[in-house]
Parts: sequence; C-alpha cells; structure tokens
Amino acid sequence: MKVLVIGGGAREHALCRSLSLDPDVNALYCAPGNAGIAEVAELRPVDALDGAAVARLATELGADLVVVGPEAPLVAGVSDAVRAAGIPVFGPSAQAAQLEGSKAFAKDVMAAADVPTARSYVCTTPEEVDTALDAFGAPYVVKDDGLAAGKGVVVTGDRAAARAHALGCDRVVIEEYLDGPEVSLFAITDGVTVLPLQPAQDFKRALDGDEGPNTGGMGAYSPLPWADPKLVEEVMETVLQPTVDELRHRGTPFSGLLYAGLAITSRGVRVIEFNARFGDPETQVVLARLRTPLAGVLLHAANGTLDAEPPLRWSADAAVTVVIASHNYPETPRTGDPIEGLAEVAAEDGPDAYVLHAGTRREGEAVVSAGGRVLSVTATGSDLARAREKAYKAVARIRLDGSQHRTDIAAKAAEGR
Ligand code: AMP
Repeated sequence: MKVLVIGGGAREHALCRSLSLDPDVNALYCAPGNAGIAEVAELRPVDALDGAAVARLATELGADLVVVGPEAPLVAGVSDAVRAAGIPVFGPSAQAAQLEGSKAFAKDVMAAADVPTARSYVCTTPEEVDTALDAFGAPYVVKDDGLAAGKGVVVTGDRAAARAHALGCDRVVIEEYLDGPEVSLFAITDGVTVLPLQPAQDFKRALDGDEGPNTGGMGAYSPLPWADPKLVEEVMETVLQPTVDELRHRGTPFSGLLYAGLAITSRGVRVIEFNARFGDPETQVVLARLRTPLAGVLLHAANGTLDAEPPLRWSADAAVTVVIASHNYPETPRTGDPIEGLAEVAAEDGPDAYVLHAGTRREGEAVVSAGGRVLSVTATGSDLARAREKAYKAVARIRLDGSQHRTDIAAKAAEGR
C-alpha cells in the first residue's frame, strides 16, 4: 500500500510511525510533515487546506489511501476533494466534520441522538449571553462556536471574564459546568460500523497541577487504571454508535476518527465535545499500545468495509507522552531554537522511549523549534509508573532553550490516585 498522510504535528508523526511499522505499507508520504516525520516518510510540500492540491498530489503519488490528520483540512473539505478523485480517504466530509467545526451543530446532533451532554444555550446577543450565564451560574463555561483548536473555550468563576469572552464571539455556546475527570475515547468508523480504541487522558493546562492557560495538550497516558472497565462499552452504546447513526440518517455519514471528549461526572458520563480527527497528544499513547497494523483498519474505514475488521489487538503495556513546548507557549511561542539530545534518546532509551516531532524543522544539520508544541516524548512500560519514568528520563536528555514541560503527566494515575 502507498499511503499519504496530511499534516505535520506529533499526531501525524505517531500515525506515520505506526504506518511505517505496518508490513502492508511499502511507500509512505507525508505532506507537509516535519523534521521527525522525514525519518519515516517522504515529505512533500503541499497547502494542507487546498483540497484540489492534496487530491492532485495523491493522484501523482498513486496513493491507495490518504489519511487526513488535522481538523482544519477536514472542515475545508480536503477529504471530499480526495474522495471525488476516486482515492480512499480516512477522514470525514466537510459536512460531517461540522461535528467538530461547530459546537452548535454538535449539540443539535447530540440532542437528536439522545447523547448525554451538558445542557446549553446558543447565544448571539448580549441579552441571551446574560440570561444563559445566570441560568447556569458559576463556574461559567463559554465556547466560541467556530473552530478554535481547543482554545476558544473559557471556563471561569469570574462572570465578567466569561461575559467578555462571550461578547468577543459571533456565536457562543454557554453551558452547564461538568465536574469529574475527563477521558478521551477515539473510535474508527466507516459511517456504520464503529470500532472503539482504548481510552486515554490528556492534560490541557500549561502548568503542573492543572494550573495556567488551556493549551492544545501537554501530555497524555493510557490505559486509565481508575476508569470503570465497562466505560468503553457504555460510551459505545450511549454516545458513539448513536452519534454515527444520527449522522448517517441525516444523509451526512461520518467516516474517519470520531473523538469523544468525555467528563465522568457524579451523574454519569457526559460528552464535553466531539472532534472529527485523532486527538493530539492522546494519539501518541493510544497508537503506542495498538498491536493491529494500522493501515488496513484505516483503509477498511475509508472503504466502508469496517465490518470485515476483526477486533483490535492491544498491548498490555502502558504508555505516557510528555509534550515539550517552546518558550512562552501558548501565548507567543518563540521558534528557531536548536534542539539537542534527540540522538541520545534514540541511542540510550529506544525502542521503549522515542521522540515524536511536532513543531520542528531542519536547518542544515540542526533540528530547530518551529512551533508552540515542539516534541512529544513517548514511552511504554509494563505499568504507568515505569512508562512515566522512561518518558521523563528521555525528556531530561532533550535540550531546548527556554522550553517547558509538565512534570506531573500521569503522576496521580501511576500512584493509583
Ligand atoms: P472543548 O474545546 O469543548 O474540549 O473544551 C476545552 C476544555 O474546556 C475541556 O477539555 C474541558 O477541560 C473544559 N470544558 C469544556 N466544557 C466544559 C464543561 N461543560 N464543564 C467543565 N469543563 C469544560
């Protein structure tokens, strides 16, 4: 199989790593990719938001499968363009990707499918905003209706700050606060059959102890020793299958990766949000544990033949990923700093620990930072404590001026707290 992956973050590096280990894949391309992905795939420059350009590239390469990583190309219709060119694509249509692209659309689908989620109002005027804020009270949850890469959400006890954020958006969703731990559960679907992956937990705040601003994600781990063993089954029944069925009945079937962001509240499981693609950094830990070769599963989803896929096989190992971010992330990340220690991790810590690249690029012989989140250091071990230890040992070898990382990824879970 020839596979083309679209994107250039650590999620795409994780996808490319798994695809490169799949014996059925004999040519792997990534567009635009990054310095780390270049080690496992051939990079091609492309405007990832330009569906016609991606379809042309896939045709030129003779790709048997295109895998779209990030949300923006999905919402821009890149999957539709590739599908129209007759090439199987893993990733939903622009219409189905509205499940992520519009919070209001997602709420409407959930209401129709009876999927448990926070009660909410969609507001477009200051009066509606005030009514909604007072209806739910503090803590206030205010979400920009548009695509904001997880950064358009404000959760605060400060009514004035909640109101200011709401008035800065054209359309906002204001909703009830959900307490309890969060879980990310991914499912691969062809629009009919749904195949759940293993749950993971990510860390959204920039600083230890869940302090500081929201980010794209600072780390993740899987499995979740504290979670109910029946969680996946329950979410399949109450969330994933009904959502996939509802979208199909609407005439906009969802094929690709359905990501359910869940809160395990005192009143049961609630959906916080859906995403229409693999989550970053949870993908790094989920794929580290997947034993089934990836390409065939993604191709089945793309072709509508997922019912032929046997159950997925998983490693009993745990996986932890720690994100190294650049100076001043997430506000005004500094880029262009040299990264050292990558070869040492490969030589000393592999194969259980490895570095997945996000915002990196090559400058001559050097690898330099090129984005906010720079590296995802990932490790596996027989339990979370061991995986964590290996991940942090590798993190300590990386030198990037001014960089930051959390020191408490998976700490509580590893201690059984
Ligand atoms: P979202 O982009 O909807 O995932 O929101 C980003 C983050 O904001 C989530 O991961 C949660 O930590 C938090 N959040 C979103 N909605 C709620 C809610 N209703 N109650 C509590 N926290 C929330």
